[in-house]
Amino acid sequence: MSVNNVDKILSYVYPVSVESCKSLVLNKSLFYVDGCEVCGRCCIHEDLIFLPFEVDGMRDILSLSTKLDSSIHLGANIEYIQELVDSLQEFAVDVGNNKFVLYRSKLPYQIHIFDDRGVLKRCHWNIPVNDDKLGCGIHQVSSLTCKFPHVRFMYNKKNKTTHVGIMQYGRNWALKCPVKFVKEFRIETVENLINKFELLSKYCDYFQIDNYCSNILDVLRSVHTEDDIDRFCDKDILVNISKKRLFDV
Ligand code: SF4
Ligand code: SF4
Repeated sequence: MSVNNVDKILSYVYPVSVESCKSLVLNKSLFYVDGCEVCGRCCIHEDLIFLPFEVDGMRDILSLSTKLDSSIHLGANIEYIQELVDSLQEFAVDVGNNKFVLYRSKLPYQIHIFDDRGVLKRCHWNIPVNDDKLGCGIHQVSSLTCKFPHVRFMYNKKNKTTHVGIMQYGRNWALKCPVKFVKEFRIETVENLINKFELLSKYCDYFQIDNYCSNILDVLRSVHTEDDIDRFCDKDILVNISKKRLFDV
């Protein structure tokens, strides 16, 4: 495993925690259209980490599929989810002063040849799913680290400020990610962000970390037009909360 995915998960959790963060800014770039082509160039071979509620969700899909007529499509490949569940190993991590149970899936890699990246070891689930195009075999139940490919939490330790946005340069150059972000308002982008931050909120709650996900979600749920982005972005969304905190002291 080249990347410690538990650390990667915590690198999303801490920048939105009440303890670390005094100012939180959503950059306008967060709302750019990020059309991931699920091409697999960034799907490195690493352990996938899941929380117990995600494993429960996978088991629910499996038990539902055995109850339902096989002609009913659940939007997920049941054989893949079964293989994933069978591969899970329970382990514990210390976060703060507490121990938490997590699940790790370690499965063999795939070899793919990309004309612009050469021969690469890729994630077990980076497989042809559509007309021989590569995709994610477990997209519906993929882990938090897979669901945030471009969202970046830029944390400034000095002033405890977190900026959340998406970044194309650097990562795209190194990984040859073909996505070009488009500065265009689409309500699907906002809905997608809401799903991501609802998931991050569940992770923070699981690790018992007080966090500002609900404030981020309040902003995201208030964005209905491009003008709303101008109203809420590039400014501290915690400013009223900080004032309240001053009065509370
Ligand atoms: S490299 Fe870019 S387009 Fe390809 S799977 Fe990763 S994020 Fe999506
Ligand atoms: S689980 Fe899916 S999205 Fe995540 S690395 Fe593997 S192929 Fe890519």
